[in-house]
Amino acid sequence: MDTIVALATPPGRSAIGVIRISGNDAFAFTRTILCDDDYSPTPAHAVLKKIRNPKTHDLIDNALVTFFASPNSFTGEDVVEISCHGSPVVLRQVVDWLLGLGARLAGPGEFSLRALGSGKMNLSQAEAIRDLINAQTEAAAQQAVRQLGGELSARLKPLKESLVSVIVLLESALEFVEDDLPEIETARVKSTIVRLIKEIALMADSFGAGHLLRDGFKVTLAGRPNTGKSSLFNSLLKADRAIVTEIPGTTRDTLSEVVNIKGVPVLLTDTAGVRESTDRVEGIGIERTRRAMVDADLLLVVVDGAVDLSNDDLEFLRLTAEQKRVIAVNKSDLPGFRHGLEIEFNGSSKVVNISAKDGSGLDELREAMLEPFVSLSDVQSGLLITDARHHDLLRRAQSELEASFVEVESGASEELILVGLHNGLRFLGEITGETTTEDVLSRIFSTFCIGK
Ligand code: GDP
Repeated sequence: MDTIVALATPPGRSAIGVIRISGNDAFAFTRTILCDDDYSPTPAHAVLKKIRNPKTHDLIDNALVTFFASPNSFTGEDVVEISCHGSPVVLRQVVDWLLGLGARLAGPGEFSLRALGSGKMNLSQAEAIRDLINAQTEAAAQQAVRQLGGELSARLKPLKESLVSVIVLLESALEFVEDDLPEIETARVKSTIVRLIKEIALMADSFGAGHLLRDGFKVTLAGRPNTGKSSLFNSLLKADRAIVTEIPGTTRDTLSEVVNIKGVPVLLTDTAGVRESTDRVEGIGIERTRRAMVDADLLLVVVDGAVDLSNDDLEFLRLTAEQKRVIAVNKSDLPGFRHGLEIEFNGSSKVVNISAKDGSGLDELREAMLEPFVSLSDVQSGLLITDARHHDLLRRAQSELEASFVEVESGASEELILVGLHNGLRFLGEITGETTTEDVLSRIFSTFCIGK
């Protein structure tokens, strides 16, 4: 394999910046930039070394260098990790020299792709590393770590083994038995297929919660001015701000932040822009609000429970009646607050009494926001399917087995039954990468970051 190099830490200044090299010449190239022909380190031991300009031998940096000898490395190849001081100038120079020596800049996920190629991990584990790096909440990170530990492959293994045993039974009947399968065997085939369909469907069903945990959903605060939307936005943000502040691909026209609602990353948008004074600005604000409302997976409609509902409130409630929404009746700390305002809405929307000011009712509000999407116990328990690719493959495997079951029921020949079983096995195998084509692999690894 040719030798690849990449910065494993984010670009920019930092205390330490790590350069990673993998491939046949990783060791030789390192010797050159250390200007040390005697460099022969104990594998997996970090040693403080001097990095020098290979031409002038000028000292560039003191760095901690760790050599991992093949096959005991992340990629399975010879790997060197150089922890320099995190100066973009130093890091740039070192990477440039390595490129000059014949290394190639790694593509996104190329280190993981090599780890996969050398059998260091399977595909779903490599995907778990990507998901762990991208996780926005602790709960999402936990799911990724479980998958990285091989839990998904471990759960698929007995399913694949059962499927193989049925395939072997039918294939051998095809080869060696002149008559049809005895009834007792047919019953065994049937019950195994039914059990497999059930178990695969159960795993696929967990994608609803798993997808939410990884990618979250969008909530827009809406309502007439002065009901307390911005105050609520701030209260939720203060307590629940997620680890990263932006879901990629979202615009920041309106005020948006990611909050962590019981482990689910929720993009919360405040539509405060409506109240600017000049007509033009107001127009833009209203347009942004409208867009944020249309974009939202859920509307959080805020009304002021300390005063009577105004015509504006009623109009707003009427306009949003068709959308998925939760109604927050705010300012429950005020003496004139009217609990039970909900009877006036006579709709099916969930209504929660809250105070953005003292925080009461916010926990119930968080639960009400999640309720239309997922049950909390789903999010908090078990291994979930978080990846759309895995979900799709499980569903395909399920429908192939269902087709086989119909064939068994109708007394079809072994050949016909086997078609769906083989396809199902192939789809299950694709999840862990046993039967994944090159182009699918390159599509998956293009979603990784460089240096991983
Ligand atoms: P927005 O226009 O809907 O964003 O509302 P704001 O968040 O700007 O709040 C309008 C006014 O209501 C401000 O004076 C807030 O201090 C007040 N307010 C907001 N929430 C509460 C609450 O829960 N209790 C009380 N007493 N006042 C609140």
